[in-house]
Amino acid sequence: MTSTLPPGTVAGPAGASAPAPMPAFPAAALPAPAQPTTAPSRVREQLAARYAAQHRRRTWAADTLQVLAWMVVVLPIGLRLHDGGWSALTASAAGLMRGVGILTGLVATSAMVLMLWLAARVPFIDRTLGHDRALALHKALGQWTFGGLVLHGVYLVTGYAMADQLSWSAEFATLWGVGDFVLAVVATGLLAVVAVTSVAAARRRLGHEVWQGIHLVTYAAILLALPHQFSLGGLFAEGPAHWFWLALWGATFFVLLTHRVLVPLFASAEHRLRVSAVTWETPDTVAIEMTGRRIAQLGIRPGHFAHFRFLQGGLWWHQHPFSLSAAPHKDTIRITVRMLGEGTRRLASTLRPGTPVLIEGPYGVFTDAARTAPDVVLVGFGIGVAPIRALLEGTDVVPGHATVIVRASSEVEVAHRAELEAWCRARGVRLHVLTGHRGVLADGSASWLPASHLHWRLTDLTGPLTEADVYVCGPAGATELVADEALAAGLPPERLHREEFAW
Ligand SMILES: Cc1cc2nc3c(=O)[nH]c(=O)nc-3n(C[C@H](O)[C@H](O)[C@H](O)COP(=O)(O)OP(=O)(O)OC[C@H]3O[C@@H](n4cnc5c(N)ncnc54)[C@H](O)[C@@H]3O)c2cc1C
Repeated sequence: MTSTLPPGTVAGPAGASAPAPMPAFPAAALPAPAQPTTAPSRVREQLAARYAAQHRRRTWAADTLQVLAWMVVVLPIGLRLHDGGWSALTASAAGLMRGVGILTGLVATSAMVLMLWLAARVPFIDRTLGHDRALALHKALGQWTFGGLVLHGVYLVTGYAMADQLSWSAEFATLWGVGDFVLAVVATGLLAVVAVTSVAAARRRLGHEVWQGIHLVTYAAILLALPHQFSLGGLFAEGPAHWFWLALWGATFFVLLTHRVLVPLFASAEHRLRVSAVTWETPDTVAIEMTGRRIAQLGIRPGHFAHFRFLQGGLWWHQHPFSLSAAPHKDTIRITVRMLGEGTRRLASTLRPGTPVLIEGPYGVFTDAARTAPDVVLVGFGIGVAPIRALLEGTDVVPGHATVIVRASSEVEVAHRAELEAWCRARGVRLHVLTGHRGVLADGSASWLPASHLHWRLTDLTGPLTEADVYVCGPAGATELVADEALAAGLPPERLHREEFAW
């Protein structure tokens, strides 16, 4: 059964009491009710045109990136085939083996280069693909790189063994004494360690910091493997391929050094963030305000996240990604942190005002920059409400054509409730606060709704989704359920924006 819901539903277990008003960030930034000057239908048309143009630009940028990525794979193959590779391939069975070995090595190396670019946090790539999609591609390419390098070695040793009429192991032993072969084998071994520890289960067991430390071994493996590309067999000792690879590796190390090291150091030195307030928001959540210099130039906006490192005893040695929970106000930004593990527990309970903060970012496309349509639906589960609260303030809405849905297990867990209500009131946005544990549907599958309201559908709360962007943030299982329902209700896939607080 479907119920007709009044705008601004606050649903929860019967008898739940209303929460006490929360302190606003910063008090002066809370909005006054909107005074419409332009007719909503006209505003909606303007927004539709603006966001459609923005979407076209992003699609064009994504196509450009795809073409560039394919060039990185295809050009080295073309250069190799042109540079004697084709005749070597067709000369003999041993030549065919060696030729295939070289080609798999080239594809694996191209995949490795692309993988590094995807992890380099280059703003153009990050803003076009989204940080999480870039990292998912990085992970997939990691498997191709490792598999390709193993095949490269196997084909080449087989080809040489056939030519020298030796057994595979005898050929391997002979090559052991040649040039940089040992380094290449050690590099493949190191990459095997990285590949195994990146499997989700192993990664979880190791913990984030240990896994990250092991992951840095990738760079050592690349540095060990690089010399053999230019020396073994002399394939790239000269000619266009030599210059192609030198330029590609040079550019790759340059962007890594720039965006992973220099830009964050410069940003922290330039903006000099310090903790200015730490406020308990719910029993397990704190709001942390940080004030610095020239924050507008940092380019951080609602929906963005950044990596923060708090330079205080017991906290400085690990950094965490957190999303803005309000639009930047003058030179102050705010994040809201839920105590999830040991690191966030220590952060929430010991962080003191005055602590200097290092920042890496901003990152992500869970922002207004991903909008494609005039209507908007913002859904936050648990601490996923943080970027939703910021977006509510920072994205354009047409009164009556925007909805915020906040899901939490209980009333007391809803962070920034008073601010959500104030912003929704001021901007003409429907607010639904749905509390209670997630229910189970008649067929045994999980629902994203509270057990008390299983008969609702997403569109009962939001209205039609065909002209809307849907932003949903929270744990993977819950966001997936909302995403599936939204797509089934006719939401075009490019209008679905998901942020999960995990990689
Ligand atoms: C894009 C993004 C935005 C986020 N925004 C917020 C936010 O606004 N508010 C909030 O409370 N939480 C947010 N998180 C989650 C937050 O980063 C983790 O809860 C926190 O890092 C956990 O650290 P811990 O030491 O307490 O827990 P742990 O027990 O060490 O880890 C718990 C989980 O967090 C992951 N994790 C730990 N450290 C990191 C790290 N440095 N980078 C990535 N994942 C890590 C672990 O792999 C594990 O899955 C966000 C996460 C991501 C990826």
